[in-house]
Amino acid sequence: MNFTTGDSVAFVGYRGMVGSVLMKRMEEEDDFSGITPVFYSTSQAGQPAPSFKGAESNDVLHDAYDIEDLARHRVILTTQGGDYTSRVHPQLRERGWDGIWIDAASTLRMNDDSVIVLDPVNRHVIDRALESGVKDFVGGNCTVSCLLMGLGGLFKNGLVQWASSMTYQAASGGGARHMREVLKQFRDVSAEVSADLDDPAAAILDIDRQVLAKQRSGQLDTEQFGVPLAGSLIPWIDSDLGQGQSREEWKAEVEAQKILGLSDDERILMDGLCVRIATMRSHSQALTLKLTEDIPLAEIERLIDEDNPWAKVVPNTREDSMRDLTPVAASGSLEIPVGRLRKMSMGPEYLSAFTVGDQLLWGAAEPVRRMLNIVTGKL
Ligand code: NAP
Repeated sequence: MNFTTGDSVAFVGYRGMVGSVLMKRMEEEDDFSGITPVFYSTSQAGQPAPSFKGAESNDVLHDAYDIEDLARHRVILTTQGGDYTSRVHPQLRERGWDGIWIDAASTLRMNDDSVIVLDPVNRHVIDRALESGVKDFVGGNCTVSCLLMGLGGLFKNGLVQWASSMTYQAASGGGARHMREVLKQFRDVSAEVSADLDDPAAAILDIDRQVLAKQRSGQLDTEQFGVPLAGSLIPWIDSDLGQGQSREEWKAEVEAQKILGLSDDERILMDGLCVRIATMRSHSQALTLKLTEDIPLAEIERLIDEDNPWAKVVPNTREDSMRDLTPVAASGSLEIPVGRLRKMSMGPEYLSAFTVGDQLLWGAAEPVRRMLNIVTGKL
């Protein structure tokens, strides 16, 4: 498909968590130049369209379910979610629309005729797909994308035999409403003990008891997460596949294989346990990697650091880890810090690592933003 300057691009889901980060990045990178953006909503059609730097307009929001209206665009970029994709994408294709569909939801990821986009890792796969007429380009799972951005140097060089990842995933992974919910829970739990907190003589066990009572009271807003997350964690993310594994855990191996363009024989075994924690933004992962050979730690660090401009090795010291290897440090940054690198006591081929990345950037908005720029010929 040849994109011509000024061609229109439909944006669906611009006000969600991923969409908001996408819009901010597009403003920062002047990505609205050369395209005519048209904004859609599933709930606010007819209200004034948003204005972004380089995308000012007097238009109104269009109806995101209006197939005829959508079909006039050469490119549709959606960060709306899987239900939307399941409903609208088949109708558009059945109608004969042959434009480029760029999506942050998982719905189409594992289809044979889609590509998972993470161009610093798989630009060759994307270019080959565009040449062969592929039309559906989907961002990868957030933890998988952040992992491959951080440790791509080891994966791409065939140095990983298998990997196990224990995740610590932020509330924002669920979306805007989940983020608000966990903040409200923190507020309501803190309110319960605020007088005692200001009184140094108050007994800590009393404070702890009141907090726990509030968490168990059924009074906290848990509409999105189902159970309290503030001051707790949830050791299950996404649906139950029925064999003891969650869908989030299943995604790691199959998506990594697809992103890296590996055949079944070349597949890298990956499994782990995905946990939701009450951080606001940025997913962390503690990794155990079985390497295919015993290579020196310095060489491992060099391969990670030099793989792409965003992966950054953090020295394995207490000070560096506390300063640079946390969600607070990583949020809002495109850098993917990788640290706690050391050979484990199991043997010289066992590597321990910890990485954290803003899942709303490399795990969601950035790959689809860059895919749009590949389609429009800017990247
Ligand atoms: P989200 O924040 O829930 O936004 C999705 C849509 O919800 C919005 O576009 C908006 O659509 C509607 N909405 C309703 N109430 C809203 C409110 N108070 N604030 C903002 N939007 C509201 O979802 P998301 O996290 O951006 O995820 C979108 C897709 O990206 C999903 O498929 C998700 O799996 C995927 N993804 C998310 C992440 C992540 O870290 N969050 C990472 C990778 C992939 P209308 O304007 O049409 O009402």
